[in-house]
Amino acid sequence: MEERIFVPEMDKILNKEFKVLDKGFVRVVDYMGGDESIVQAARVSYGKGTKKVSENKGLIRYLMRHHHTSPFEMAEIKLHVKVPMDAWRQWIRHRTANVNEYSTRYSIAIDEMQETSPVEWRLQSKDNKQGSKGMVSEDIGRQLTNKEENLQKFSREIYNERIDFGVAKEQARKDLPLSTYTEAYWKIDLHNLLHFLGLRMDEHAQHEIRQYANVIGNEIVSKWVPMTWEAFQDYKLNSINFSSLESKTLIKIINSKEGLENIDNFLNSEFFKSDGKLNGEGLEFKEKIKKMLKM
Ligand SMILES: Cc1cc2nc3c(=O)[nH]c(=O)nc-3n(C[C@H](O)[C@H](O)[C@H](O)COP(=O)(O)OP(=O)(O)OC[C@H]3O[C@@H](n4cnc5c(N)ncnc54)[C@H](O)[C@@H]3O)c2cc1C
Repeated sequence: MEERIFVPEMDKILNKEFKVLDKGFVRVVDYMGGDESIVQAARVSYGKGTKKVSENKGLIRYLMRHHHTSPFEMAEIKLHVKVPMDAWRQWIRHRTANVNEYSTRYSIAIDEMQETSPVEWRLQSKDNKQGSKGMVSEDIGRQLTNKEENLQKFSREIYNERIDFGVAKEQARKDLPLSTYTEAYWKIDLHNLLHFLGLRMDEHAQHEIRQYANVIGNEIVSKWVPMTWEAFQDYKLNSINFSSLESKTLIKIINSKEGLENIDNFLNSEFFKSDGKLNGEGLEFKEKIKKMLKM
């Protein structure tokens, strides 16, 4: 019979509140399993074999490389998180977790809102409609922060007034801003957690949720399942995938005299260009080459 798996590094951070944003946090409530349980589960498939640490590492890397995902579902984690509602709205789209959220129908809404300092206002990105690029000047930022303070204060006063008049909590809350914090217990298996981190640690994810994902990945998962974390970073998080068209184009670029100096000259495929200009796919391919060169 196997013994329960304890991960000493994880036990050290149980219940510790990792601060995120201005008032949020992530706290590990409990966990089940670790790298060992992944190996244990995989060995049911592949037979016992030897159990040296280096072999366990190799096995985990093999599983990650070949998308043999079910052994990663054997480890689970339960987090307590405090998140502004706009980031939570993105978080909750990950359907493969078990969630219990603070009820603002039952309880008074948490009296805390995420505040943005004058130097934190981001500009709308011109090439990514969903993203931000660059910062608003501090002068304007100061005005925006002042107005935000007033708005948050006013919306809370309205909420409190409704509560004082006896309005039901479920209705009184309707005009609270999305910056209001919520809390939840969030339980997920490691396979689906890595999927969440892959999407939410990525630079395309919104800054706020990325801060949470970075803490969960770098501060928690790295200690809980160090071998899996290393394999995940290597094969998923920091890897670059090329389509077959991209791979063929890359080989042409490498074999040419100009090499990587004039990438644009090689991006003539209809998939990379529209109306004579690089389209989304072309721009992303170029970004991937640049990222690869920085490695
Ligand atoms: C950068 C970014 C931008 C986004 N922009 C938008 C947007 O503009 N609008 C928007 O609505 N959403 C947006 N999303 C949310 C996104 O579309 C996903 O809903 C979210 O990331 C959850 O991903 P998921 O479904 O893979 O995860 P999970 O729900 O955790 O599911 C994990 C995996 O389980 C499987 N799965 C789960 N449920 C089902 C199901 N019912 N049927 C089939 N397979 C299932 C799928 O393989 C899925 O990948 C965005 C996400 C990111 C990261």
